[in-house]
Amino acid sequence: MPGPPCTGRAGRRRGLFSARHAYPDEMTEISNNSQQIAANSDILQNPGKTGSLYLPSPVVVGQSRQFFEIRSQHDMLIEIHRKLHQELGIPANYGGERKLPCYEEASDLIDVGPNLVGRMQRLAPEAAAKWQQMVETAAGSGVRLLIVSGFRSYEHQAELIRKKIAAGRAIDEVLKVNAAPCYSQHHTGTAIDIATPGSRPLTEEFETSDAFKWLTEYAAEYGFSMTYPRDNRFGFVYEPWHWAF
Ligand SMILES: [Zn+2]
Repeated sequence: MPGPPCTGRAGRRRGLFSARHAYPDEMTEISNNSQQIAANSDILQNPGKTGSLYLPSPVVVGQSRQFFEIRSQHDMLIEIHRKLHQELGIPANYGGERKLPCYEEASDLIDVGPNLVGRMQRLAPEAAAKWQQMVETAAGSGVRLLIVSGFRSYEHQAELIRKKIAAGRAIDEVLKVNAAPCYSQHHTGTAIDIATPGSRPLTEEFETSDAFKWLTEYAAEYGFSMTYPRDNRFGFVYEPWHWAF
């Protein structure tokens, strides 16, 4: 069954999914033929490279396994995202029902400094440049903008959800707060969760901060907007800390 089309902003811009993330475990699982694995890895680890990717067919004829070609990296990664969704118990109609765009995973990323817990954060180059400008300009007005989270891979997004499920949360509840893999704006490297001293990170308290007031007034000048306002059409909770370029 094909996955949803990749319709995110970054997806439209670049056309295909990034191949920078090779998912070695997935690759081993879906193709146990060493030559095919080598061919797949070569394509996936060299973003400029073109070629066909291989998956084993579920049909077994005699002792030989039939292979079919997946013609593009896009199809390949749609398959990986479908398997991730299956594993996490995400409803099949998740993206369609909410009319959510499925985002490409960014491959061109640069470090923009560590977050509050010392983990290096990365953003797409243009978003990174504008973010740095905002941080500096806001600082000039005595307002501190701190990054909590920038780029997140599909796998990172899946891991956030796995942890909550392991802690006993129901998937429906988790999905109000965390987008399913492929549907988070953080995959594009252009979304930032922002915090500021004096308000607890990733809580609605942020909307009463000077940082929020500053962003509301000036972020648009840098191309950023708050994409999950109250009662947003995507069905996500209100996220005054989430701003996207
Ligand atoms: Zn966010």
